Amino acid sequence: MPGDQNETKLVSFAIANGTRRKIINFLANGSKSTGEIGEIVGKATLDFHLRILQQAGLIKLEEGIVKLSEYGKNFLKNKTEKSEEKTVDFSQAKPIEIARIRQVLPCIADSSRLRVSANMTPSLGGILKLLEPLFPRSNYSDRKDSLIIKKGEIITTIYGSGKVIIRMIKNEDEAKEELERLKSIINEGIAKGEAPAPREKVKVDLMEIYKHLPQTNCGKCGEQGCYSFAIKLMARQASLEKCTLLKEPEYKSNQERLHVLVNYI
Ligand code: SF4
Repeated sequence: MPGDQNETKLVSFAIANGTRRKIINFLANGSKSTGEIGEIVGKATLDFHLRILQQAGLIKLEEGIVKLSEYGKNFLKNKTEKSEEKTVDFSQAKPIEIARIRQVLPCIADSSRLRVSANMTPSLGGILKLLEPLFPRSNYSDRKDSLIIKKGEIITTIYGSGKVIIRMIKNEDEAKEELERLKSIINEGIAKGEAPAPREKVKVDLMEIYKHLPQTNCGKCGEQGCYSFAIKLMARQASLEKCTLLKEPEYKSNQERLHVLVNYI
């Protein structure tokens, strides 16, 4: 049964795609023939999607009949239960406002940058943890009831009390921009009335990113080769779009997998 980090990645990769989520949900009502599934999601790439779901251990395929594995059933059940729980919590949240910036000081780590304190109201106490999946580079700490969000060099910490500290900021205008960005992401999430599914904690390493790149060292991404590009991706100093080769059909699977992996960096 999937459980370790690699298996979690396989499952995340499998369900990151809308067609595959559709297949899984379709199978929730019982076994289906590949023909029936093809009518729902299209036949052109059906084999590809079924293979990915099989590799993730979510389905079983025997003689043209597809069904959820035991793991697949439990996975679907957990997802449904979690989403029902979170819907209740998130629907009670109120949109936030940013109160004025309270303090601007030099950053301890780099005195050429600023450390800015502000406040969000109302406090985010009960829902702070649920906000974590809204930000790709974020980490919630139960112990401190704080959410750390990274964007480029900027590091923001939001506390359950509503206190916000932004570090490594260039000037007050940049701080205001970042506060507005956070506010609109949080309020858009709250407006949906449903918390996003919690992100699985997965560690991604450099070699894993590297091995999914095309390995041609063509340099079209502006780097010396794929390894250098992988380093830039790990440092979040480059985006996958720069590797134009990944858009070619033969790298479709690599591209999808890399999209999932870079979200965990
Ligand atoms: S463009 Fe893609 S394949 Fe070419 S060197 Fe860069 S990462 Fe490698």
